Amino acid sequence: MKPECGVKPMKLVRKMLAGDVNALSRLITMVEDELIDVAEVMQEIHSRLGHSYCIGITGPPGVGKSTLVEKLTSIIRAEGFNIGIILVDPTSPVSGGALLGDRIRLQSHYLDDEVFMRSMASRGKLGGLSKKVKSVAKIMDAFGKDFILLETVGTGQVETDIVSIADTNILVLMPHAGDIMQAMKAGIIELADVFVINKADLGKSGHLMADIESIVSDRKREDNWMPPVVETQAVNNIGIEAIFKEIERHRRFLKNENLLLQSRLGRATDEFRELVKDEMSTRITKLLHENEIFRKYLGKVETGELDPYSAFREILNLMPKF
Ligand code: GDP
Repeated sequence: MKPECGVKPMKLVRKMLAGDVNALSRLITMVEDELIDVAEVMQEIHSRLGHSYCIGITGPPGVGKSTLVEKLTSIIRAEGFNIGIILVDPTSPVSGGALLGDRIRLQSHYLDDEVFMRSMASRGKLGGLSKKVKSVAKIMDAFGKDFILLETVGTGQVETDIVSIADTNILVLMPHAGDIMQAMKAGIIELADVFVINKADLGKSGHLMADIESIVSDRKREDNWMPPVVETQAVNNIGIEAIFKEIERHRRFLKNENLLLQSRLGRATDEFRELVKDEMSTRITKLLHENEIFRKYLGKVETGELDPYSAFREILNLMPKF
């Protein structure tokens, strides 16, 4: 982390919390570029979290996610809610250019102050995209967005990590595409609360519908939610209201079953585990390289004086017990 010249991070956080859009934008950039102590920011905004409802929209490139996000945004805005949109492309090394198409499709909302949009991609050497997306979603939540739309390209593992933060997940597919198998492999199917078959105007979604329905009925979920399948034609604005209705139905279900709070607390627990694991691993790696005792045992294994398990046991005995 390198501090950005002339910026008092916590002042920026306070401005953001007071509703300053510029501060929101700058803060997000600082989180993305690792110019700020993210843990400190997250601690500072924690008491303001929990208002936003996060909707994940995932699917292979070209199925119509951005078109759908644009139309869904219109519907949510018409209901009087404000929105944060995060467009994530884990496959792209640069933010911005690669997502130009998305931006163009979403330009109908550019002049709307109640819609705040951000594109995120794997920037150069700075890693940890899914962690950053989570932080950005939290910042938008603290800012007071009613809904956060989280669009991710593709159906791989990184996307699975990213969409796991959403309250309702939408998997978008289209007729004639074999991407359902890929989505299954990446575990996205399990996360999908609503299936959308877009481009229904291209016809013949029967096969896909049957595939989805058999997967859904084969795999009974722990929470007993039966993910619905909605057919849409995003480009013609057909079926979008049906998606929003299903989102609202899923949200009511989570609330009524007391699952919303439960799954959010579950995610907080996972986050805590990850934080501890990351920090421990960083510290251990450093210890292995720099600490005298570790180096001594490392040397003993390297020269064959000790076998790895005996060295490991001796080191364990020297470690503090919780
Ligand atoms: P994304 O890559 O998943 O975000 O997909 P886009 O929203 O960029 O859409 C890809 C292409 O599909 C664009 O040319 C859209 O105009 C088109 N498209 C989106 N929805 C539909 C639809 O319902 N039917 C048809 N025929 N084309 C669509």
